[in-house]
Amino acid sequence: MPKTIIVSNRLPVKVTKQDDAYQLSSSEGGLATGLGSIYKQDDNLWVGWPGLEIDRHDDQLSVTEQLKELSLMPVFLSQDEINQYYEGFSNEVLWPVFHYYASTYAHYAEANWECYQRVNQKFCDAILEVANPGDTIWVHDYQLILLPKLIRDARPDVSIGFFQHIPFPSDEMFRLIPWRSELLEGMLGADLIGFHTFDDVRHFLSAVQRLLPVQVSANIITSGERAIVIESFPMGIDDKKYGNLSQQPNVKIEAELIKETFKNQKLILSIDRLDYSKGILQRLHALEVLFEKHPELITKITLYMIVVPSRDQVPQYKELRDNIDKKVGNINARYRTLEWSPIQYFYKSFPIETLSALFSTADVCLITPMRDGMNLVSKEYVASRMHNDGVLILSEMAGASKELIDAIIVNPSNVQEVSRAIVKSINMPKAEQARRMVQMRQNVSKFNISHWVKIFMDRLSEVKQMQRSMQ
Ligand code: UDP
Repeated sequence: MPKTIIVSNRLPVKVTKQDDAYQLSSSEGGLATGLGSIYKQDDNLWVGWPGLEIDRHDDQLSVTEQLKELSLMPVFLSQDEINQYYEGFSNEVLWPVFHYYASTYAHYAEANWECYQRVNQKFCDAILEVANPGDTIWVHDYQLILLPKLIRDARPDVSIGFFQHIPFPSDEMFRLIPWRSELLEGMLGADLIGFHTFDDVRHFLSAVQRLLPVQVSANIITSGERAIVIESFPMGIDDKKYGNLSQQPNVKIEAELIKETFKNQKLILSIDRLDYSKGILQRLHALEVLFEKHPELITKITLYMIVVPSRDQVPQYKELRDNIDKKVGNINARYRTLEWSPIQYFYKSFPIETLSALFSTADVCLITPMRDGMNLVSKEYVASRMHNDGVLILSEMAGASKELIDAIIVNPSNVQEVSRAIVKSINMPKAEQARRMVQMRQNVSKFNISHWVKIFMDRLSEVKQMQRSMQ
């Protein structure tokens, strides 16, 4: 029976080393939950890196055995590979260029590109060990852009889907990458290529049209004998999980505590990973503008700002963190009173129960990335608002803004506009909050993670049928 193989850089598992033994625990991220319905069935499996360097052969064998129980198959990477393929190329070429930060953060090193190719080949070799004719292989994200073509060349008789979770930039940005044609050719090994938004699709099609000798007609690319379909599949979340969490007794107790603590204020929540694409400094600037223009709001609002630690050993990220620390410090020093601070800032991650308590109590959720493939936090806030109240302020640069059109949509660089949006959100009548939230909740519930997985997989089989009928 044909099987389905999911491939991503990281496996949905946390592997830790205690004494000399390796412990495994499943990670329950949204993607893992959504794809659980696939990779845990029959002979299906998920291939990826277990998340830490395991160099001893015996250890690799024992971890492989343990992972097998969970339908997972590891690709082991050395520390050098992690540094060059993951940090050096994925995160210092593809991430900045795809988020429009080419001139500030991209670092084009030939050695990292070579390692990126080698590691994509390593993933391909692992897949070829298990893939049979007729199988379906779904490759995820920018770390594995070359993989579809590598698999296709070695095993033309499989179905390959590729989904990119980060934006695809305008051709003017993409073409700066020295290895642009190889990257596009790598992706075109797939039968179906998915992005979060129609804009990403459009950008990809024009890059392909300008850089490769292929034919593009509507959203179909013809390369030699093969037709490849490019479409948008906006990713959803496990909405029920967030609804149910907010009703759990322990979460309700935590929510009551938060309400009591901030009872005389409007609570504005923001949650991001530490990253320059998230617009954290610009958001803080908007808050400064707000206090300058509306001194009457001093002591009346609190920004509860969670920044989840990420890559803070990398100089650019460390610098961003220092700048955030400084700016938060300045604003708090300038405006605080004995009983009140304008910003409650946390540089750490929180358990999902605490996030849920915050989502269900915050009057406003303020999400203002400069660029974001989708942004799941905005959807998690909406899914947690069981009483149809609360206001979402959302950057037009987040993929989610194309679906959550009843949010207050802002340009994150326009700090005046963001500050006006905050005023509007805290004064919004309950009826308007409900009208907007009901619409957004319907969207988040209908287009949830299982729907996303289903429509991508269904579309991939349709594309395969279409290709057969053309032969
Ligand atoms: N998140 C988390 N721990 C935290 C704060 C956030 O696990 O302390 C989760 C959050 O709930 C969301 C994810 O991290 O599911 C962030 O996804 P998003 O698409 O918003 O941004 P990304 O970090 O993928 O760019």
